[in-house]
Amino acid sequence: PPAMKGDLEQFMEWVDEIKEIDVLANADTPDDAAEARKNGAVGIGLVRTEHMFFEPERIGQVRQLILSKSEAQTKEALDNLLPYQRSDFEGIFKAMDGYPVTIRLLDPPLHEFLPGLEDEEVLQKLSSQMSMTVTELVEEIKSAAEVNPMLGLRGCRLGITRPEIIEMQVRGIIEAALNAIDNGVDAIPDIMIPLVGKVQEFRDQAKLVRATADKVFEETGKTCKYRVGTMIEIPRAALTAHEIAKEADFFSFGSNDLTQMTFGYSRDDVGTFIPEYKRKGILLDDPFVTVDVEGVGQLIKSTVKNGREVKPDLKIGVCGEHGGDPRSVEFFSNDAGLSYVSCSPFRVPIARLAAAHAATKKKG
Ligand code: PEP
Ligand code: MG
Repeated sequence: PPAMKGDLEQFMEWVDEIKEIDVLANADTPDDAAEARKNGAVGIGLVRTEHMFFEPERIGQVRQLILSKSEAQTKEALDNLLPYQRSDFEGIFKAMDGYPVTIRLLDPPLHEFLPGLEDEEVLQKLSSQMSMTVTELVEEIKSAAEVNPMLGLRGCRLGITRPEIIEMQVRGIIEAALNAIDNGVDAIPDIMIPLVGKVQEFRDQAKLVRATADKVFEETGKTCKYRVGTMIEIPRAALTAHEIAKEADFFSFGSNDLTQMTFGYSRDDVGTFIPEYKRKGILLDDPFVTVDVEGVGQLIKSTVKNGREVKPDLKIGVCGEHGGDPRSVEFFSNDAGLSYVSCSPFRVPIARLAAAHAATKKKG
């Protein structure tokens, strides 16, 4: 006989029937994706692909890719990284069989991957790998540094200046989806462009994504469905949502960066003044934890309105930290009308409960 459902399981089923917004999870590995599924996530709202690059056996290739001035060395590094990406993506599709997996193309400033200048052993090894002297290597590393890396060469700016990296990633995604489908998995790839501020940036990257996917389809004689969407995390993207919605298949708010750039507060340095702001009543809550309804929230609402004026059924979610905060979930569900929130796997049950609570509150 089938096992009796536990009380908690039954309760969570009711919770899911009541809520009006989907709960997805942020996950970067097949294990995280499996955990997310276990906790009831109905998809992955954000795969941060850069996390896959930090693995010890890959970082040497990533460093070569960033610093290389020769086409052959660039190609060698890309060829070595592709199988890793492909197997990671395939594992995530498998864990999320039948549910969407939103994969974000490379986002962080490239120099985050580079070794420190005091790390002599690593510098020695990398310089011989790349047939350079240590002095030459140090010069290359220094020239990659930026004064304001969070406002620098990251997100789609990377993809536009180094298209070969994006081609490798998209090839990995599409080949993984085709392999997964061959193995009976219903793979649903959603490819997401980060840090878009102008529709022209989205257009450039979406064209590259589609051309790369077409190349893989032609080579393999197979095809699969995929969508190309964008993060909305720069105020300029929010303000021009009507333009971007014409071309993007979905939106996902990066509420961490959107908060940073709307307030002009560094998300990495908030400890220096936010406690004092809270003591003085300038801020009631930390805006990086609970969505700032009056400011960032207004921007989110107008983006949704403008985006859906162009495309009434545009899928719009949020994948910043706020996606797992109960008060923010209520705002996203009841006030902003988002399709989904996405949060870390262990917060999924809390977000499901918060979503049901919000729906109950709305109905009165
Ligand atoms: C965000 O900015 O909210 C986001 C989800 O992306 P990241 O935190 O990786 O910048
Ligand atoms: Mg971001």
